[in-house]
Amino acid sequence: MKLIFLGPPGAGKGTQAEKVSEHYGIAHISTGEMLRREIREETPLGKAAKGYIDRGELVPDEVIIGMVKNRIQEADCSQGYLFDGFPRTIAQADALAAISPIDMVINIDVPAERLIERISGRRMCTGCGTGYHASMYDKDACEKCGSPLFIRDDDKPETVRNRIAVYERQTQPLITYYEAKGLLKTVDGDRTPEAVRADILALTEKLV
Ligand code: AMP
Repeated sequence: MKLIFLGPPGAGKGTQAEKVSEHYGIAHISTGEMLRREIREETPLGKAAKGYIDRGELVPDEVIIGMVKNRIQEADCSQGYLFDGFPRTIAQADALAAISPIDMVINIDVPAERLIERISGRRMCTGCGTGYHASMYDKDACEKCGSPLFIRDDDKPETVRNRIAVYERQTQPLITYYEAKGLLKTVDGDRTPEAVRADILALTEKLV
């Protein structure tokens, strides 16, 4: 099964992707998380990407496409994968179409005015990258690996506003792009994580 989760920053793509990929035993590919790991490890790619991420801009397409091409060759991708945060531009979507067919694109729809308040409660594990929300988890350490939690630099309100504008300009056109290919399904993301997940599983079960 090969899926794409589409949606603005704060829509809940990461939260849903974690559980849905586990449910189907497919790889969860978060390009944002891959980039944050490169930054933590201070690799040349991480150093090149950091400025873009801190400003809330997109990392250049060729960097992301190269990274994804390598990632989908790895062993854990043999049963399929779920892209979370990729593709984010038409150029990335065209590149993906040339390397891998996709079964379904799930668009997680959340009204723009809800995004900033949702992002302001986000916490992330410094060790394994698991995401939490302060309203549902008030501890300082990750329940999976025990590492401390932190607030992403690019989750600051001024950066978030730019990320939402970048989403609207560069990523939102993918909704029409995938609709035209007959691959798009939209779920109402402005509900509890469990309710959103139930809808996603109902749609994707048909692909098994
Ligand atoms: P995310 O964790 O998906 O919110 O991504 C965090 C940041 O990483 C984004 O704001 C971008 O700067 C960068 N990024 C992640 N995925 C991509 C992508 N597919 N294309 C370009 N930049 C990306």
